[in-house]
Amino acid sequence: MIHVARKEKLGERDSRDAQSKLGEAVALTAAIHLSVVEALIVPIARPTPATLIGSGKVEELKGLIAEREPEVIIVNAALSPVQQRNLERAWKAKVLDRTALILEIFGERAQTREGRLQVELAHLTYQRSRLVRSWTHLERQRGGFGFLGGPGETQIETDRRLIGERIAKIKGELETVKRTRGLHREARKRVPYAVAALVGYTNAGKSTLFNRLTSADVLAKDVLFATLDPTMRVVKLPSGRKIILSDTVGFIADLPTQLVAAFRATLEEVLAADVIVHVRDAAHDETEAQKADVVKVLKELGIEDDGERPFVEVMNKIDLLEADVKKAMLTRNRARPKAPIAVSALTGEGIGALLDVLDRLTGQEERVFQLRLPHADGAGVAWAYAHGRVLERKDRAAGVHLSVAIDPQDIDRFAQRFGADLVAEQRVRRAS
Ligand code: GDP
Ligand code: MG
Repeated sequence: MIHVARKEKLGERDSRDAQSKLGEAVALTAAIHLSVVEALIVPIARPTPATLIGSGKVEELKGLIAEREPEVIIVNAALSPVQQRNLERAWKAKVLDRTALILEIFGERAQTREGRLQVELAHLTYQRSRLVRSWTHLERQRGGFGFLGGPGETQIETDRRLIGERIAKIKGELETVKRTRGLHREARKRVPYAVAALVGYTNAGKSTLFNRLTSADVLAKDVLFATLDPTMRVVKLPSGRKIILSDTVGFIADLPTQLVAAFRATLEEVLAADVIVHVRDAAHDETEAQKADVVKVLKELGIEDDGERPFVEVMNKIDLLEADVKKAMLTRNRARPKAPIAVSALTGEGIGALLDVLDRLTGQEERVFQLRLPHADGAGVAWAYAHGRVLERKDRAAGVHLSVAIDPQDIDRFAQRFGADLVAEQRVRRAS
């Protein structure tokens, strides 16, 4: 693993230092189960066109590479096709750049059909750009004009055509998938539950928190990108109301632009969410810079903490903080809603406060109705339980009497389902 760092210019505002970037790249590599035998930072004053890093350094690393014999060398930077090939030749080893590394991760983690298609699309586009540029380069090397049509050129033309065809096909399939997904989302919208989406930097603890809140056994590993496609589960809040929690892909700093579409496809669920829960790793050195990254990407997607849609900030991993810092943060939980909610997804501390906040944010004024159904209408009774909050139930000889609190947006459905059997009480209840 080689992290290429520009020798810092004075006044540069990037707060992440090279060491932390190297650490992130190593963690990304671990996400695809590669063990890193050597990780180093190579400072450069300016990029060298042929190899990115200076020729002296390329030579110097040759010995180390020959000695360690890595399966692959990852250069944590964007390499041009020419640079990649020149480095492979010089080091006699396979070289991947950062884009290729992230593509590997996306490829391994993509779960839904759309996720897989988007990743393949990004992959092919990446490949095609390599072909185009290396062809130009070859032509220049040969000093020819290109019209002689050597075998290499023909092969590249064929590859380009095949890739182009595949890209067109995938784009078509993506359209279809998007339409169907829209239908699925429509179906979900009819469920009277608010949706809260967990977003945040990779490794912040979203999946762990998701598990903690839903007590579901989904993937939570000590690797980045443990989830690429959103996962959804129902959570029961203290009020007894339910919401749907959505676990999403982790954000990554400096995401290569070619991968933005593949990444965004995984975030579409966030756009549809009623509440955004931004999970932060409070114990991370770069927690503020991470927050800035997440806020920036969300803003590009049109999601802002502007009061239009509830936005909760969660400071996770407080178990790793010093006792007094942790205590101060937990105390602030009571100052909600404005303060970030301090939690430990691992130990469960602060989770109650988070659930309360979710309850309040998704809670609305419910109206209470009386519902009288014959005993035979078991399905109707079950429906009322599923779509409303049953406050009281009396089994009488004449039938089942239910007192149900109903969210305003569901009243129409209840009315349609039960007609005159539904009688409104002059009662309004605040949920939570
Ligand atoms: P995600 O990428 O945001 O989904 O993060 P994960 O849920 O996969 O967690 C990443 C790593 O952080 C895992 O090793 C978790 O065990 C760990 N982790 C998550 N929450 C906590 C926490 O509250 N405290 C500590 N100490 N570790 C945590
Ligand atoms: Mg995860």
